[in-house]
Amino acid sequence: MFDVSIERLVRGGQVEESRAARVAFLWEEIRRLKRDKHAFVPAHNYQVPEVQAIADIVGDSFELAVRARNVDARLVVFCGVRFMAEGCYTLAPHLPVYLPNQRALCSLAEVDADDLEERQDFLRSLGRRFATMTYVNTYADVKALSDVCCTSANAAKIAGRLDVPDILFVPDQNLAYQVAIKTKRMYLPPPDPHAFHPKEYLARIEPLLREGERQGLVGNVFPWEGACHVHHEMTLADIATIRREDPTAVVIVHGEVRPELQEAADEVMSTSQMVKYVEAHPEKNRLAILTECGLVVRLELEHPETRFYRVCRLCEHMKAIDLENVYLALRDEPPECRVTVPENVRVGAARAMERMIELAG
Ligand code: SF4
Repeated sequence: MFDVSIERLVRGGQVEESRAARVAFLWEEIRRLKRDKHAFVPAHNYQVPEVQAIADIVGDSFELAVRARNVDARLVVFCGVRFMAEGCYTLAPHLPVYLPNQRALCSLAEVDADDLEERQDFLRSLGRRFATMTYVNTYADVKALSDVCCTSANAAKIAGRLDVPDILFVPDQNLAYQVAIKTKRMYLPPPDPHAFHPKEYLARIEPLLREGERQGLVGNVFPWEGACHVHHEMTLADIATIRREDPTAVVIVHGEVRPELQEAADEVMSTSQMVKYVEAHPEKNRLAILTECGLVVRLELEHPETRFYRVCRLCEHMKAIDLENVYLALRDEPPECRVTVPENVRVGAARAMERMIELAG
């Protein structure tokens, strides 16, 4: 839970003074509706502070997915993006799950399930022993084609526990790099977006496959060509600027940034790991955290003694959720906001998500 007052948000510039009364009204109404309707409201770390403040739990996708399994509620209003609400329904299909704004999508999650099957066929045709590992930032039809899901917090741990040498990692090419480095697998270059040609791609990766064998690596990571635009647009210059301004600042990047930024940073973490790091290291009071701004703004409010350099970026999909649409979803339970998945797809997606929870334990 994120405990903050309106006065603090106004003082910090997160809420304009002219909106303070409306925010206070919405907080009160949302809290009343949650009680009256026995509703559960989870929020992702990237939500704006005024939304995080009314949530029952704030966390990363793994924390929210695990919590969804055992939630005691009559309905869920999910403050995040669609794949998260889908994931919640996948693990708790007895509950109506509402996403307050249908524009809360995710550029990374747009993977075509037919394309994934084509890629799996390609690896089978090469005789590779592989598992399809899918980041939770995907829709249920893609999860259902996967052996296991993962989040940025547990991707390397889960990959390390798989009993096959190769991994087809979907859809984030940068997190795939983290998995390859941490599990001693060869990181192969992803195909160009929308241009997968099996013969040309094989010619491109063959020398690297041989090199991995020569080095005695565990296997290979075949990355999908996706990326989160929020993290992928961060540059080495962002880190260089911070280092110039304050050489003592600890630079922490999210696993979705490009490989060269992961190498230049001091730490690579998921959002939940970032939160724990800041809490566990009060002596590290000059930090540059390269991820979506929602998390950094909350950390600033929770740790006023720490200096945070603003190198974060906004995700417009996450920001499609606001207090007004959360209030309306909770009050009206509009059918168009309800998120479901066909049962045959849901069962497959749930299997991959449950395997993630089991292997991450
Ligand atoms: S921050 Fe990136 S991965 Fe997360 S919802 Fe936005 S576009 Fe998707």
